[in-house]
Amino acid sequence: MVHRLRGLGISVHGLEAADGVGGTWFWNRYPGARCDSESYYYCYAFSRELEQEWDWTERYPGQAEILSYLEHVADRFDLRRSFSLSTTVSSASWGGDRWVIDTEGGERWTCRWLVTAVGCLSSANVPDIPGLASFAGEWHHTGQWPHEGVDVTGRRVGVVGTGSTGIQAIPVLAASAAHLTVFQRTANFSIPARNAPLSTSEAAGYKADYAAIREVQQASTNGHPFVVSDVDTLALPDDERRALFQRAWERGGLRFRAAVRDVLTDPAVNDETSEFLRSKIRSTVDDPEVAETLTPRDHPFATKRPPIDTDYFETYNRPNVSLVDVRADPIEAVTRDGVRLASGAEHPLDVLVFATGFDALSGPLLRLGLRGRDGVALADAWAEGAATYLGLGVAGFPNLFTITGPGSPSVLTNMPTSIEQHVEWIADLVAHLRAHDLDAEPTPEAQARWADHVREAADATLLPQAASSWYLGANVPGKPRVFLPYAGGFARYRGMCDAEAAAGYPGFALRSRRRAA
Ligand code: NAP
Repeated sequence: MVHRLRGLGISVHGLEAADGVGGTWFWNRYPGARCDSESYYYCYAFSRELEQEWDWTERYPGQAEILSYLEHVADRFDLRRSFSLSTTVSSASWGGDRWVIDTEGGERWTCRWLVTAVGCLSSANVPDIPGLASFAGEWHHTGQWPHEGVDVTGRRVGVVGTGSTGIQAIPVLAASAAHLTVFQRTANFSIPARNAPLSTSEAAGYKADYAAIREVQQASTNGHPFVVSDVDTLALPDDERRALFQRAWERGGLRFRAAVRDVLTDPAVNDETSEFLRSKIRSTVDDPEVAETLTPRDHPFATKRPPIDTDYFETYNRPNVSLVDVRADPIEAVTRDGVRLASGAEHPLDVLVFATGFDALSGPLLRLGLRGRDGVALADAWAEGAATYLGLGVAGFPNLFTITGPGSPSVLTNMPTSIEQHVEWIADLVAHLRAHDLDAEPTPEAQARWADHVREAADATLLPQAASSWYLGANVPGKPRVFLPYAGGFARYRGMCDAEAAAGYPGFALRSRRRAA
């Protein structure tokens, strides 16, 4: 965004809480942290030179490699001079004709346009468990992992949470811990990632093919360059259907979904797919009771963000790993020595890891302390749940634009693709506002229509069936239940954003600054 606005000749400055660039890849340094999108397309597309000069080394990039990439981008485009690091925004208020931003360090910034790039998964959700402060060992949330690392060699480690993060961290922690105890509340589906080094010829092939790859991404439902199969899996004989699932399983990763048409819209297709994945858990995990506890039965496959893994289910065959079902016997307290369950069972621990996710999508925006027209706090405007127009702006908050905000496809897509689409769209809007000396904010009518459409788009899929999903805000106690990302597909969404711009932004109230002055 900074690069793009600079290119328009606009004075732009970035405020960043961390003391380095990298966002999610700066903070999420837990053991096993790796991207679930493949490296050749989990990257920027705005610079052909950048695409050609950067060499990815693995099918899925690890945290350290992505962080180096982002540091390279910051240097390559001379971005650092436009950022203040270690600068946490404490509040941002619309002052009538500009935004006034205060930081925790006592600085004040003003700007005409405020663009948020705070990410969707940056507000850590640490469960409020009684006694945590009394724990004699060390505890960490995966999203705030110590930069110096945590040596678990020979120690007793507990992990709470079996989402994408827990599923990545558990096998790696188990390899060095004396004992690993996994506290599982909800069993999850997971597909083998099948990570591997990227060969020189594969990497060269991707580089030669980027124009076509980007085209497929732009036309896709979720920003991944996968063409969704047109095979009607239900029409196949059982053995052929299983063979199709098996091939997709062997190829691994998020592209498994692209092999199964209608998996998120047709319950019968989803049942078949979910049953195939459950059979894989049974055949991988030696102890049938452990396998049953690990088998998800409360939600259809992919209605919660599907994790991908390296040896996740295999890890439960290790003698130093135990699984505790905290749905059946909930965590009652953290004690000085470990975790105590409602039954009174004690699990002594030296290290406790919370892989418990985030106050997703709305949380990072609420933390900014935003106040719009008439001093209305975003927290009040969103008391019934986050509401935006196109996920790009909020009624009552002039000249505020939200990259991958709630109500946009964001977390249902390959994030860089959605981020770049928003950056381009916001840059065009800002250029329009500058050219015509206008302020802009979504109209309440457009915002209400968009909220209806976001709901309809989710209801047309099986996604709302996952009752405990963070897509719905269900993972944070007290958070309003609203389906937050837009599930209507990336290409369709991009078309609607383009139409909005082409029509002169009819969903926005555009006010002349000259008349206001
Ligand atoms: P998550 O999907 O929200 O999973 C959190 C886990 O913690 C769930 O198993 C949840 O159980 C459990 N939990 C939460 N509070 C609990 C409590 N009080 N007691 C017991 N268990 C509790 O969070 P995440 O794994 O960090 O992943 C979040 C998202 O980040 C992912 O879905 C993905 O979009 C992104 N991510 C991406 C990558 C990647 O690309 N490699 C890696 C990691 C994360 P319930 O299910 O019962 O709520």
